[in-house]
Amino acid sequence: MHFAELARAYERLEATTKRLEMRTILADLVRPIRPPDLARVLYLSQGLLRPEYEGVELGVADSLARRAVALATGAEEPDVARRAKESGDLGSTTAELLGKGRRLDANEPLSVAGVYADLSRIAAAKGPGSQEEKVAILAQLLGRATPVEGKFVVRFVLGTLRVGVREMTILDALAEAFGDGAKATRARIESAFNLTSDLGLVAGVLVDRGVDGLEKVGVEVGRPIRPMLAEREPDLASVLERMGGRAALEYKYDGLRVQAHVPARGPVRLFSRRLEEISAQFPELVEELRTAVGSPPAILEGECVPIDLDTDEIQPFQEVSRRRGRKHDLARVQEEVPVCLFVFDVLYAGSEPVYLKDFAERRALLESILRPTDRVRLAVQEVVADVASATRFFEQAIAAGGEGVMAKSLKDGSAYRAGARGYWWIKYKREYTAGLSDSIDGVVVGAFLGRGRRAGRYGAFLLAVYDPEHDRFESFCKVGTGFDDARLEEMPKRLRPFEADAAPAGIETGLVPDRWMRPGVVLEVRGAELTLSPIHRAARGEVRPEAGLALRFPRFTGRFRDDKGPTEATTSGELLSMYRSQVRQAAPSSGSEGAPG
Ligand code: AMP
Repeated sequence: MHFAELARAYERLEATTKRLEMRTILADLVRPIRPPDLARVLYLSQGLLRPEYEGVELGVADSLARRAVALATGAEEPDVARRAKESGDLGSTTAELLGKGRRLDANEPLSVAGVYADLSRIAAAKGPGSQEEKVAILAQLLGRATPVEGKFVVRFVLGTLRVGVREMTILDALAEAFGDGAKATRARIESAFNLTSDLGLVAGVLVDRGVDGLEKVGVEVGRPIRPMLAEREPDLASVLERMGGRAALEYKYDGLRVQAHVPARGPVRLFSRRLEEISAQFPELVEELRTAVGSPPAILEGECVPIDLDTDEIQPFQEVSRRRGRKHDLARVQEEVPVCLFVFDVLYAGSEPVYLKDFAERRALLESILRPTDRVRLAVQEVVADVASATRFFEQAIAAGGEGVMAKSLKDGSAYRAGARGYWWIKYKREYTAGLSDSIDGVVVGAFLGRGRRAGRYGAFLLAVYDPEHDRFESFCKVGTGFDDARLEEMPKRLRPFEADAAPAGIETGLVPDRWMRPGVVLEVRGAELTLSPIHRAARGEVRPEAGLALRFPRFTGRFRDDKGPTEATTSGELLSMYRSQVRQAAPSSGSEGAPG
């Protein structure tokens, strides 16, 4: 196929903004094309050389492209730069310069295969001297191009191809060109794409084996699957109703979705929700997935969240973003911001795809193949059949640092639906409040032994507020964040006089610390917000029966309140009014008490 044909189609595509017209132009373009040109044309039209997940980049900056244009056209580089600045598009400038008194008929016409091969060589050039190599290949290619071809080559190289062809339009066009154009056909093509994330591959199968052939296109380890997405409901009663009265609820972790491909041999690869490869960002997950997955190959899905490995507390998501894009110094960042992958699905296991199995079966399979490690764990799950249990689980999720719950249908047909949003998964989130501005003075009533870097010392502390009415201490959080080394050293010394062998009288909590403490030491903490909790006992029953108040994302401010005795700490009543004023500030969508039921 001549590249000129493709360039002509691009000109027509550029001239329209109507999706229907685009579809016809594209369908007409691809209809006569056969593999392997077909895949090339599809990738090129999206501004790609390979399916997006492979992350192939040309690595050509504006300045390199200008040099190539200058070489190819004989213009001076400053002149090229000036013209491009004026036109705002180096592509048009290239066309203009190429059109100046050149005899093109002396050249062999460019083929799609040839252009594609040159562009691939440009992408492949890496390391010392590669810039020169890229310029040389591009200049040579442009030297053989017509003005229109040159325009599109340059735009492609710079990532400014403005033909606006998106995946969905291409799928439409494929259905029209190679199928009967019917909705059902389009759906089958799309589902093959959702499983493979590769339009070139899908189009090839379609042409060679027809629509029925697409049924054989499956999931492969190493090739990301487009993620299944969730619908939402305003409350837990509606969630349960949608799911037929019974559902598996999971913590909804607030982090990055990760699809982990663990091959039998070769490197583990991680893909983001947008199917970008992110393996290099999380080397520790790559490593632990090898240990956690006993019998590869497997494809797992989970949410990656920052975690304090010493206390097991989930940290706010912003912590992870500190790692994004950090290529250097990864070892230090890994230590500063450890992450944990909470695995919630399995799509491939035991040498076969399992995404078509019902969810309960997939979860059972997941539990059987995963050997949890520090950084790779199972998503916390509970099967519920009534609103009260669902509410309790939701509160537990919030208290543990989750942003809500994800309900998963247990009905027949609850297969993993790649790339689709539907009511098989329903999210129910807690809307965030403006945040808690006040600090809280909490009494230490227990301590937990540390792990990791904090092994052999206390890693976290159980804090309580004082209830003067009943003269007791009611827990509201477990805090391990905010302690520097010096303060951590200091804690055992400060606490020693208060250590107790059993739970002292007058302490109300649903947690059992490694070491109980008689109330004595007061710490100042801050947190994101107060939430209802089945575990903590502050102001229990005041907002709702069986629920206490808990501080989400607690953090020690570094300040010991030596000026305060335990009964001078924050009281349950104060905590309750903080909770109430926070609910009043919250957006109406967060519900009157910040929780359903
Ligand atoms: P949202 O981004 O608000 O539409 O919520 C969907 C996202 O929640 C998914 O794409 C996952 O990244 C994330 N998520 C967190 N926990 C879970 C879970 N247990 N199951 C499924 N998705 C989860």
